[in-house]
Amino acid sequence: MIIAIDGPAGAGKSTVAKILAQRLSFLYIDTGSMYRALTLKVLENNIPINDESQIVQLAHKVKIDLRNNPDGPLAVILDGEDVSLAIRAPRITKFVSDVAKIKEVRQVLVKLQRELGQRGDCVLDGRDIGTVVFPQAQKKFFIDASANTRTQRRFKELKGLGQEIAQDDVALDLANRDKIDSTREASPLRQAEDAIYIDTTDLSISEVVDCMLERILKNG
Ligand code: C5P
Repeated sequence: MIIAIDGPAGAGKSTVAKILAQRLSFLYIDTGSMYRALTLKVLENNIPINDESQIVQLAHKVKIDLRNNPDGPLAVILDGEDVSLAIRAPRITKFVSDVAKIKEVRQVLVKLQRELGQRGDCVLDGRDIGTVVFPQAQKKFFIDASANTRTQRRFKELKGLGQEIAQDDVALDLANRDKIDSTREASPLRQAEDAIYIDTTDLSISEVVDCMLERILKNG
C-alpha cells in the first residue's frame, strides 16, 4: 500500500508521515530529503545554482539512498555518507527549491522514489507524490496550515535543531519556497483531485494522525 502526503513547507507532513509509518509498520520515504541531498552535493561542488546542465549531470551521478532504522530516525545516505543532519542546514533550505524546479532533476529523483516505493508498504511525503510520483496511491492526503502556524512550527523545529534563526526569516523562507514550488513548470505543488484535504492549523499532531489513520483503515 502506498500512502501519499503532499502540502506546503512547514505544514507538519514529515512529523505525521513518520508517526503514521511507525504505527502501520510501513517504510517512510521523505522525498524532500532527496532534493536536499542533491542540493548539498551541488554546493559542495561549488556549482552555480543557475547552472542547470551541471546540476542535471550531477543528479545522474550521485547515489542517494534512504535507510529506515526501526529504532531511530530515517538516515539519508549520499554517496555512502550519512548526511541526515547536513541537509537541514539553512544554506540547503535556501537553495533546494531552485534545484528541485529543474525538470530533469525531478525525472531522476522521481524514478528513484518509485524504486524505493517497491521496497514495501510505504508512506511518502513531498509536493508531487499524489499527482506525479504515485498517482495510483491508495490513500492521498494534502496537509495544510495557515502561514503563521507553519512559520511557528518550523521556527520551533529549527530551534530544536540548535539553529539560530529569526522568526521573520523563517516566514520569508517558507513563502519563497512555496512560491517557487507552486509556480514551477515541472510538477508544481498542488492537491491531487482525489486527495483528502486536512487543515492542521488548529489540530494537534495526534489529532491529525488519528484523522489520517481513520481514513486509511476505513476502506474506500
Ligand atoms: O519537504 P522539504 O521541505 O524538506 O522539501 C525541501 C524542498 O524540496 C521543497 O521546498 C521543494 O522545493 C522540494 N521538493 C519537491 N518535491 C518533493 C519534495 C520536496 O520539489 N516531492
